[in-house]
Amino acid sequence: MKAVRFDAWKTRPTLVDVERPVPGPGEVLLKVAGSGACHSDVALYAIFDQDIAMPQLRPSYILGHEVTGWVEEAGPGVIGIEKGSAHMVYAARGCGHCTSCAHGEDTLCDNVATMTSLGSGLGLDGGMAEYMTVPVRNLVPLGDADPIKAAPLVDAGLTAYHAIKLALPRLSSGGRTALVIGLGGVGQLAVQILASMTSATVLGVDVKADACDLAASRGTVIVEPGDDQVTRIRELTGGRGVDAVFDLVGTEETIRLAQAVVAVRGRITVVGLAGGRTDWGFYTTPFEAELTGTYMGTLDELHELAALYRAGRLEVDVTPYSLDDAMDAYTRLEQGTMLGRAVIVPHGGVTAPVEQGAEVPAAV
Ligand SMILES: [Zn+2]
Ligand SMILES: [Zn+2]
Repeated sequence: MKAVRFDAWKTRPTLVDVERPVPGPGEVLLKVAGSGACHSDVALYAIFDQDIAMPQLRPSYILGHEVTGWVEEAGPGVIGIEKGSAHMVYAARGCGHCTSCAHGEDTLCDNVATMTSLGSGLGLDGGMAEYMTVPVRNLVPLGDADPIKAAPLVDAGLTAYHAIKLALPRLSSGGRTALVIGLGGVGQLAVQILASMTSATVLGVDVKADACDLAASRGTVIVEPGDDQVTRIRELTGGRGVDAVFDLVGTEETIRLAQAVVAVRGRITVVGLAGGRTDWGFYTTPFEAELTGTYMGTLDELHELAALYRAGRLEVDVTPYSLDDAMDAYTRLEQGTMLGRAVIVPHGGVTAPVEQGAEVPAAV
């Protein structure tokens, strides 16, 4: 089968021919429906090396940690999983027996230091391929919802969902405000999840007009860039400041914006990987404000997010690519010219990138 494999640090992945994997005990063989191309893949092959990356991410393996698919074959001991049923793949793999893993928080596994990977497409073979094997525990059922458009929910969506869920105590009263900095793929999901789960007014900022327009169509109050942006955001909160800020960019500039607008007892979550730093001290910070980071989400939360999606409460913007064109998708990610989330569709009959919003050919 064809697969996109990452073979060495600072080297672009390549399309290779490999053996179709065989499901082991407790695993299924999944026929891949959609596999999202994520910015963190670009970081893996273009930025990371043995000095800065966690050793668990060392190549070589097939990329793809945002995967959905149909069950093709069950391995020994697997019961109650129907052939052809559609699922998301929870990518993180912890040790399976620590207290974090027992709660479905494989991302925060207590034994990560002794693990040899962080998950599928993150040290283990992922789903940028025609088929992959998955432990049944990591399958999240999609019912009859579109599995191709669901692919970005597995990482981009789950990351937003987890960050928002942890901030819910800040947003649970009347008259609360949330701010989403960065309205790309994760940001578009974040504004919809906030609208679905809270009564807060959702503010959004981005430098791209088309991203702002799309978020505005989803009920977000856009605050245009400019010197008085902080003042305008504060005015929109009645002077109180923002109760929960989600910084999906993560530069020094965006973290400082978050600090300038956060309310007393507010919460700033830095989600974006840009690596910005800031200073944080008693006299520069509103009373009891928090600054935190986040990493993906829990298995349980992916089940919750699947329920929102299956109920039709989330629109996901995808640009489908064939497996043969996967590297073109990564090129556009590198150049920052991708509209929506690039989803590789190995079995969909997609021969060229389809414009965003266009119908994806049904896979069989
Ligand atoms: Zn990712
Ligand atoms: Zn563990």
